[in-house]
Amino acid sequence: MQLSNKKNKQKMGRPHVMVIPYPAQGHVLPLMSFSRYLAQQGIQITFINTEFNHNRIINSISKSSHDDYVGDRIKLVSIPDGLEDSPEERNIPGKLSESVLRFMPTKVEELIERMISENNGGAVISCVVADQSLGWAIEVAAKFGIRRAAFCPAAAASMVLGFSIQKLVDDGLIDYDGTPKVRKAIKLSPGMPEMETDKFVWVCLKNKDSQRNIFQLMLQNNKSIESTDWLLCNSVYELETAAFGVAPKILPIGPIGLAHHSLQQESTSLGSFLPQDRDCLDWLDRKIPGSVIYVAFGSFGIMGKAQLEELAIGLAITKRPVLWVNSCGDQPPIEAGSDRIKVVRWAPQREVLSHRAIGCFVSHCGWNSTLEGAQNGIPFVCIPYFADQFINKAYICDVWKIGLGIELDERGVVPRLEVKKKIDEVMRANGDYKKRAIMVKQTLMKSVAKDGFSYENLNKFVNWVKLQSELTKF
Ligand code: UDP
Repeated sequence: MQLSNKKNKQKMGRPHVMVIPYPAQGHVLPLMSFSRYLAQQGIQITFINTEFNHNRIINSISKSSHDDYVGDRIKLVSIPDGLEDSPEERNIPGKLSESVLRFMPTKVEELIERMISENNGGAVISCVVADQSLGWAIEVAAKFGIRRAAFCPAAAASMVLGFSIQKLVDDGLIDYDGTPKVRKAIKLSPGMPEMETDKFVWVCLKNKDSQRNIFQLMLQNNKSIESTDWLLCNSVYELETAAFGVAPKILPIGPIGLAHHSLQQESTSLGSFLPQDRDCLDWLDRKIPGSVIYVAFGSFGIMGKAQLEELAIGLAITKRPVLWVNSCGDQPPIEAGSDRIKVVRWAPQREVLSHRAIGCFVSHCGWNSTLEGAQNGIPFVCIPYFADQFINKAYICDVWKIGLGIELDERGVVPRLEVKKKIDEVMRANGDYKKRAIMVKQTLMKSVAKDGFSYENLNKFVNWVKLQSELTKF
C-alpha cells in the first residue's frame, strides 16, 4: 500500500525497533516476548526470522487449537539462512551459526536499505536489538548509524564466561582455539556457579572445526557488543548478583515472559516452531495439585534410545502422573493406554509450568526453561547435555538449591533408580526444595513488579527508544 506523504512523516517519528534473534527456538521465544512488551508500550516492531523459522511459526499459528494474535505493531519479516540446499545442517548448531554468518549480514543490510529508501530517507529504525550471539547484526546497524542494543537470552554467567576468555587463556586453562588444557572446576568469581573446563559452552561441540569457529565468533561478538548502547539480559539481578557484579554493563530485564504477563494469554504461542498441544492442559486439570512430573528437554530434544528407556522406567516406578514433551518425535517406551503418562509433541510450556498440578520439572536446563520453572516455584531434576545447560544446572542445584542433578552411569545414561530417587526427594511434601523454589519465585515476581530491578531496567530502555524516535523526528 502506498502511504501519503503525511502518513510517511508520522511514521518516521514513531518509535520503531528492529529485532533480530539467533534462529533457534530458545532465542526466538524470549525475543518475541520482549517484542510484545515493547509493542504494548507503543513501539513498532520489525521482527526478523529466517524463512525456514518464519514458515514454521506461521504454520504453527494456523494449526494452533485456538486463535493467536500478532497485532499490527509487530511485523514478521523473513530472510533466507543459506541452508535451503542442506536443511539437515540446521540441526547442527555449529553449521547453522556458520551459514547464518555467511549469508544473513548481506540480507539484513539489503532489508534495512530497502526500509530506509521506502521511507524517503527518514530515520525509520530507532534501534536494532540483536541477539548477543549475532555480533554481525550489531555491526550492520552501526554502518547505517542506527542505535544498537544486544539481547542475551542466556544467563549473565554465560556472558561473563565469554568475556573471560582471555583470562582463561592467560591462566593456562584453555588454548587459543578454546580447547581445555586441564580438566577442573573453576569459579569466575565467588558466588558464581562452578564451571567445568571440559563443559565450557564452546567445548561441548563434538566437531573440532565447529568448536574453533564458535570460539572465534564469541571473541568477535565480545568486540561488537562493546559498541552497543545497551546490553540487556533475560535474567534477574538477585539470581545472579555475583555475575552482574563482574560485568555491570549487563542489565537484567527478566524473566521477560513474566514481565509481559498482563498481555492476553492466547498470544503466548507466538514464536513457537511447533503447534502447541493444548489438550494437555485439560489433562492437567484432572490431576491432584503438585502431583505431576513435567518432563521436557527443550527444542533440540536429543536423547539416545538407551537414555529414553531408562528414563521411561525411572518415571514409571515413581507411580506419579507424568506429562512428557517429546519434540524429536520418537515415542518414549511407556505403558500404552495409561492415563498416568501423557506424551505430547510440543506443550504450551509456560502455561503448563504455571498449572497447579505440576510438582516437579525434569529438565535439560535450557535458560528459558530454567526461568520458567523458577518463576512458578517448581523444583527441578536436572539432566543437562549441551552448551550453557551445565551452568544453569549449577545455578539450580548449587546456588539456588531448588533442584538435584542426576548422576549418569558409565554409559552416560541416567539410571532408572537414580531418576526415581531424585524425583521423590525434590517432590517430598513440605520439603526444602519446594520451600526454596517458592522463595525464588517470590524474588522473580518482585523483580518484574514496579520498582523491581528488571521492571526499572526494561522501562528505562523503552523510554530511551521513545526518546531516540523523538530525536530523529527533526
Ligand atoms: N517450549 C515450549 N513447549 C515445549 C517445550 C519447550 O513452548 O513443549 C519452550 C519453552 O517454554 C522455552 C523454549 O521452548 O521457552 C525452550 O528454550 P530453552 O532455553 O529452555 O531450551 P532450548 O530449546 O534453547 O534448548
